[in-house]
Amino acid sequence: MSDTKRDLVFPEPIFHEKIWGGRKLADDFGYEIPDGPIGECWAISAHPNGDCVVAEGAWAGKHLSELWDEHRELFGNVEGDRFPLLVKIIDAKDNLSVQVHPDDVYAAEHENGSLGKRECWYVLAADPDTKIVIGQHAHDRAELAAMIDEGRWDDMLNLVPCSAGDFFPIEPGCVHAIQGGTLILETQQSSDVTYRVYDYDRVGDDGKPRELHIQQSLDVVDYDMVAPASGEISAPEVDGVTELMECPNFVVDRVRVDGEKVLGQPWPFLCVSVIDGEGTVRAAEAGVEHKVGRGTHFLAPSGCGDLTFRGDMTLVTSRLP
Ligand code: ZN
Repeated sequence: MSDTKRDLVFPEPIFHEKIWGGRKLADDFGYEIPDGPIGECWAISAHPNGDCVVAEGAWAGKHLSELWDEHRELFGNVEGDRFPLLVKIIDAKDNLSVQVHPDDVYAAEHENGSLGKRECWYVLAADPDTKIVIGQHAHDRAELAAMIDEGRWDDMLNLVPCSAGDFFPIEPGCVHAIQGGTLILETQQSSDVTYRVYDYDRVGDDGKPRELHIQQSLDVVDYDMVAPASGEISAPEVDGVTELMECPNFVVDRVRVDGEKVLGQPWPFLCVSVIDGEGTVRAAEAGVEHKVGRGTHFLAPSGCGDLTFRGDMTLVTSRLP
């Protein structure tokens, strides 16, 4: 009894060079990556700036966007003109720019109908004493504009300690920056709209400073947001599962597999990233056992049935709410 069209879908990751990137995606995760500073692995993405191709199985060679457009049954026939999520691994050797993302309404109006960007970070590894920027201290637009104008970054930015296993939700309007020495799994809306507030006065490949987007940033910052003091996870772990975030765009869970773990898959689809350990996974309706390990990402389509994991692994999963 097997239905290969309901089997798990393994996208080929896409790698992006970034001036702040490093080599950990090869050295730590074993991906084959291009030369140079590679900052991002787009692991599950149908975004036009990085549309993953399916590696094997019934859909081998198809772009994820094609599966979305032509085989919506794999996604539970949910509505929408694009696959809504994007799962990345970020290797920050140096600091990322201080940035902020718009919400859906602002992005639709000012960015050609793009989605806004809500994102969240699960910290995979961090050098000792690493911090991240999350939130800012200005109370209104005028105060923020003055802080930016005068370069008062220490007054403006909220820094929080960051270590492996921490989790940070980044709402639209939240000023943020990943700092050097951090390896992160990011789950986000399928959007690439970023407004740079400050870039440490760095220059790009062309010798010029990268563009900043001060007006847009002032427009979209949420001045009422209370910045968090820590990324420690406080949600309880129930039967190996910890809910990390539930928001209008996605639900993200951490799942521990210790021996055998059966996960129901009643959702339109489920994105799964193995962030530690190794083992196997089988979807009940397909009946094929796949070897998986740290750095494997896959989509469990609608109707694939229960997922049976064997081994010793930690997963991060994401789905629609
Ligand atoms: Zn961001």
